[in-house]
Amino acid sequence: MIQQLSIIGIGLIGGSLALALKQAGAVARVTAYARRQETLDQALALGAIDYGSTDLGEAMAGAEVVVVATPVGAMPAMFEQLAPHLTDDMVLTDVGSTKGSVVRAASMAIGQLPVGFVPGHPIAGTEQNGVGAAFADLYKNRRIILTPLQSSHPDAIATVRQMWEACGAEVVEMGVEHHDEVLAATSHLPHMLAYALVDTLARMDESEEIFEFAAGGFRDFTRIASSNPAMWHDICVANREAMLSVLNRFSEDLAQLTAAIEAGNSDYLLQTFTRAKGARDRFAEKFEDSNT
Ligand code: NAP
Repeated sequence: MIQQLSIIGIGLIGGSLALALKQAGAVARVTAYARRQETLDQALALGAIDYGSTDLGEAMAGAEVVVVATPVGAMPAMFEQLAPHLTDDMVLTDVGSTKGSVVRAASMAIGQLPVGFVPGHPIAGTEQNGVGAAFADLYKNRRIILTPLQSSHPDAIATVRQMWEACGAEVVEMGVEHHDEVLAATSHLPHMLAYALVDTLARMDESEEIFEFAAGGFRDFTRIASSNPAMWHDICVANREAMLSVLNRFSEDLAQLTAAIEAGNSDYLLQTFTRAKGARDRFAEKFEDSNT
């Protein structure tokens, strides 16, 4: 049981964490910081938090565990502002979609990283944002990646792990750099493709007709283009290197596919589609419904 959890930035991700822990009886008190009183009032009304403040020090006072759940682009400023309020016995974690940028931001702001700091990333979410979209089951049967640092104390890692497990999630650990490469390929690239596809089609003269006749496949493929643009802007900036590497690799493969269509290269087309279908079928069988 966490005696006091303080969530810095109470939106979809932070709000869902608070609701899940309360539902599981795994937290005694939840406090939160947000810039706007309106956000805190909404979190209070939903029963996600017991106390909210637009003053960071007030929101963090007495916390056993502090979770930074603001957009990634706001984290450098957040870590600078929260540094003076950290105490030696606090466990500090975050939910940012990129990990290298968060660790850099924390060490720039705090200096020597506290032993209580354990970066994390829930592989769960929706296209909605804001605390109004939060729900207690968001993390059920989802994966949470922790990227403990050399400085992270085993007790702090165990506390963060138990917190997520209490939400019904499965916790895995990996290195910071590896996390950013894996997520660039599995999450960031698909979001770029969905945004680019919808944008290209929307700017065509006949876009109304294209969307009118769009079938289920188009909807499935482009669902994630409804995600929060500001959040994805921040992720592109924060995970630039890993994203460029996977985008360049994909662009080369797409150019080859284009050339094969141009040349009427049936072997290439059939081989590519067959290989992709095999990989997708194996993936679906093994992992479907265990991740977003
Ligand atoms: P969200 O619903 O928009 O919530 C963001 C929260 O941070 C709100 O409480 C907001 O309240 C506050 N905030 C916004 N901008 C801020 C700023 N510049 N400085 C300080 N506070 C700010 O976002 P979310 O979807 O929960 O995402 C939060 C984090 O989770 C991000 O780091 C994201 O990368 C990560 N994440 C998201 C997903 C997803 O699918 N959504 C999945 C995994 C991880 P005020 O505006 O009142 O300050």
